[in-house]
Amino acid sequence: MSQRMSQRNRPRSEESFALAQKVIPGGVNSPVRAFGLVDGDPLFITRAQGSKITDADGREYIDYVCSWGASMVGHAHHRVVSAVAERAALGLSFGAPTELETQLASTIISHLPSMEMVRFVSSGTEACMSAVRLARAYGGRKKILKFEGHYHGHSDFLLAGAGSGLATQAIAVSKGVTDGAIEDTFTIPFQDEPALRQVFREFGGDLACVILEIIAGNCGFIKPSNSFVALLSELCQSHDVLLVADEVMTGFRVALGGAQSLYGLTPDITVLGKVIGGGLPLACYGGKRQIMTQVAPLGQMYQAGTLSGNPVAVQSGLTTLEIACKSGNGNFDYLSSLSSQLVSGLQSHADRYGIPFSADSEGGMFGYVFSSQKPLCKRHIDGGSMRHFRYFFSRMLEEGIYLPPSPYEACFLSLAHKPEDISNTLSVARKVFAELRKVGLER
Ligand code: PLP
Repeated sequence: MSQRMSQRNRPRSEESFALAQKVIPGGVNSPVRAFGLVDGDPLFITRAQGSKITDADGREYIDYVCSWGASMVGHAHHRVVSAVAERAALGLSFGAPTELETQLASTIISHLPSMEMVRFVSSGTEACMSAVRLARAYGGRKKILKFEGHYHGHSDFLLAGAGSGLATQAIAVSKGVTDGAIEDTFTIPFQDEPALRQVFREFGGDLACVILEIIAGNCGFIKPSNSFVALLSELCQSHDVLLVADEVMTGFRVALGGAQSLYGLTPDITVLGKVIGGGLPLACYGGKRQIMTQVAPLGQMYQAGTLSGNPVAVQSGLTTLEIACKSGNGNFDYLSSLSSQLVSGLQSHADRYGIPFSADSEGGMFGYVFSSQKPLCKRHIDGGSMRHFRYFFSRMLEEGIYLPPSPYEACFLSLAHKPEDISNTLSVARKVFAELRKVGLER
C-alpha cells in the first residue's frame, strides 16, 4: 500500500495544505491535527453535521475525533446553533460578569459535587496551569507529580513526559522549557504503584499536588485499576497533597459525574474543558470552597482572562449540557452501549484475522492499540505496532471513517452517532483487518 494513500481523491485538501504550510507552521494550528505519524496530509474540513464531517473535496466521513472530544451532542446541533446565534446577536463579549456564568457554574457543581466553586477560563491549558498554581498557593509547597503520557496542556511546568502531540512526535520535554521550569515536576509511569510509593516516601512532604487524567486519553485510552486509584487517594490524604483531576477530556463524556464518579474519587481540584464549551473555547477549574477562596480577588493566587467566561462560549456550553444531561445518566448509558459494541466488534474482527489488538471504552470515549496486551501505561502504547496502526488508519479513512491519526490519542463518539454508524464502521473494519492479515505486515 502506498504510504500516502490517504491523499488519493483529495486534491482540494492537498492544495489547501500546501498553501497553509507557507503561512502556518506545519500547516496546522495544533500539532495533533498533522498526519505526521501516518505519513499523510490532514483533511481540510468545510462542515460537520451530527456524526459526520465533510472535507474540502466533498467527501463525508463518520467522525470519531469529534473535535478531540468537544463535540458531545453532535456537530451543529440545531439547539446549540440557535442559542449561540441568539446570544451572539446580543454582543460577543463584555468583559463584565453575566448571569449565564453563574448558571453554568451551578450546572457543573450540581453534577460534580467535589467542585464547590468554579472559575472559567478559555482553554484546558489555562485551567490546568491555574489549578497547579492554586495547589501550590494553598499548600505553600512547590513540587508536583504527574504521570508519563498524561497531557495537561502546554504550560512549561507540565510539559515533561507529556502525552498527546508530544508523545506522537516523541518529544520528551519541549524545547524552550527551561530546566528550572520543570525541576519541581516529577513524572512516573501511570499505575506504577512502587514508583508512586517511593515518590511519596521521599518527597511526600514537599508535594503540592498530584495531577492526573483519571482515565488517560492522551497516551491511547487507559483505564486505571481500582487499587491504583485507591492507593493514590490514600497517599494524597495521608501526606496532605492535593489531588487534581484533569477531566478536560472525561468530564461530561464518560459519565454525568465524570471519571471521578466512576472511581469514587473526591478530588480537591477538578479541571474541565472541551464538552463544557460545546465546541467554543471554554474551560474551568474548581474545587473545595476553602481552596477556591485563595483565587483573586478573594485571595492572593492571581489568575485572570480578557475573554474568560465569554457569553457566547458559556451559552454554547449551557445548551450543550442541557441536552447531554437531560436524562440523568441516560445519554451516557447510550454512549456506553455504542462504544462497547464498537470495541467488542473491532476486537472480534481482529481476533478472527489473528491481528494483535486490544480496545477499550467508557461512555463516549474509546481507544485501541495493535498489541495483544491491554495497556496499563504509555510504554505499552509505545510497544504497539505502528505499521498496523498506519495501515488501519489510512484504509479506514479511505473508506470514510475518520479516526485520530495517532495511537496516542483517544477516539470519541457523540449523541448523534447511531447504531448504523457503528455497524458501517465495523463492516469497513472487518475488511481492513482481513487485508491486514493478507498483507502480513511485520510489527
Ligand atoms: N488536559 C487534557 C486531559 C486534555 O486532553 C487537554 C487537551 O487535549 C488539555 C488538558 C489541554 O486543553 P486545551 O487544548 O483546551 O488547552
